[in-house]
Amino acid sequence: MKTNTQIHKGIVRLILAGLMTLILASPSLAQTTSQNKQLPNVVILATGGTIAGAAASGTQAGYTSGQVTIDAMVNAVPDIKKLANIKGEQISNVGSQDMSFAIMLQLAKRIAELAAGKDVDGIVITHGTDTMEETAYFLNLVVKTDKPVVLVGSMRPSTAVSADGPLNLYNAVAVAADPKAKGHGVLLVMNDWIHSAQTLVKVSTTAVQTFMSPLRGLIGTSAYGVNEYYRYPHNKFGSQSEFSVDGVTTLPRVDIIYADVDMPADLIDASVEHGAKGIVIAGVGNGNMNKAGLDACARASKKGVVVVRSTRVATGNVGRNVEVDDDKLGLVASYDLNPQKARILLSVALLKPRKLDEIQKLYYEY
Ligand code: ASP
Repeated sequence: MKTNTQIHKGIVRLILAGLMTLILASPSLAQTTSQNKQLPNVVILATGGTIAGAAASGTQAGYTSGQVTIDAMVNAVPDIKKLANIKGEQISNVGSQDMSFAIMLQLAKRIAELAAGKDVDGIVITHGTDTMEETAYFLNLVVKTDKPVVLVGSMRPSTAVSADGPLNLYNAVAVAADPKAKGHGVLLVMNDWIHSAQTLVKVSTTAVQTFMSPLRGLIGTSAYGVNEYYRYPHNKFGSQSEFSVDGVTTLPRVDIIYADVDMPADLIDASVEHGAKGIVIAGVGNGNMNKAGLDACARASKKGVVVVRSTRVATGNVGRNVEVDDDKLGLVASYDLNPQKARILLSVALLKPRKLDEIQKLYYEY
């Protein structure tokens, strides 16, 4: 009698053999490009992540992100080529825990170049889920196009039993190829849901349904390539955005500091000493922290470091002058941005000198 492990191994071998047959039987991406003039043209920029991850077996928890190339990912889902003419480019192949401002800036530049071309209708970016929030929100701020720009990832590596990457990629291409997706800013398509870059948050370390848009809701849905749209984003993005990273090679240092019971405030002073231009506090509740923390924030603000109060709480806005006197202490409230997105907005905002009230306004608008 076969053990469970043997059966699993057999299933995985069958799946891998099937994938290999598809890969070998499919023409290269370069050949399929512009084959069908009736179809839209979609470029996939690959950066790595679990969607490109691989494990030694289909059921093991351990795996390595960023192992599979974009060509192999697309060739594993041949029906994608019925949705659009596909061209793939490998920008990086990293787990998104290793995503960097350098790669994000490179991505923004490449998307701007591609979006300016008449022969590109939409762009898909494959990306790890860990820092998807940051990259998606960054691109939403700095990429000026109405064409669909769609991030996609997966929670299970490509070798897993019930891998979620192939259908996610299929749906992402369906959205990027869809004229109705235009003008919605940067989107994320995963597990049938279309999120705005501004609202999406990762809520589970392992579950396939990991992305939610708790306060504002979904932009729409995409099921087996059939898309529906419910709303446009409420905030500024794309061509209405005042931010530009043209010629920018690095972003100013902004640190995130987590508040909790009896928080030691010297971390805030240390951040200032280490050259941070901005600090985001992942505050308790409505962006609160203890008195020692507030005093340290006020000290930092007096030295010209911009301090933004966000929250460690999963949903809800951080309001100005609610329990903290922001006017008196010289602080900024993050409104509906969580700490990681508040950090991205501040990093981009600090590329030029701005007054505190101007920075506060940005948090209401973006
Ligand atoms: N650590 C992985 C990454 O972010 C997780 C994932 O992609 O789901 O690349």
